[in-house]
Amino acid sequence: MKRAVFPGSFDPFTIGHYSIVQRGLGMFDEIIIGIGTNQSKKTLFTVEKRIDMIKQAFVNEPRVVVMAYNSLTIDFANSVDAHFVLRGLRSVGDFEYERTIADTNRILSGIETVILFTEAAYAHISSTVARDLMSYGKDISGFLPPNVKI
Ligand code: ADP
Repeated sequence: MKRAVFPGSFDPFTIGHYSIVQRGLGMFDEIIIGIGTNQSKKTLFTVEKRIDMIKQAFVNEPRVVVMAYNSLTIDFANSVDAHFVLRGLRSVGDFEYERTIADTNRILSGIETVILFTEAAYAHISSTVARDLMSYGKDISGFLPPNVKI
């Protein structure tokens, strides 16, 4: 059983995140979407709301599970018996950060990180921009996975 954790803030979960998970399902038997809640940063959506939106996106996909956690990602991955971390990479801007975290996680725990380059059509999609647009009353349905309502 190849199980991966896809960790993130998912504030909100976007169509870019959705695409990474869909593609990850071609490599892993099960993907646990882990909503990290230990950051001191304030979020727009509650954990419950974020879980609800992710469940809507994967209502027909039993191989995707969503959980919240408030520990280190590697400790969470160990607790659910996942040997891989899945991440997405949009740009060189993401690269250094992802490499640092991936190397640290591997050195500390042996957990390997699998990074997928985003589909070009979703490279501009970010939770931060979605939140900014929402704060000005704009419709962000184009940023969300199919069948997901806020
Ligand atoms: P974090 O706060 O850990 O960066 P995010 O929720 O912002 O969490 O993102 C989780 C993962 O999804 C990260 O690997 C991020 O690079 C990736 N990601 C974010 N937006 C996209 C996108 N549009 N396409 C592909 N991957 C993305």
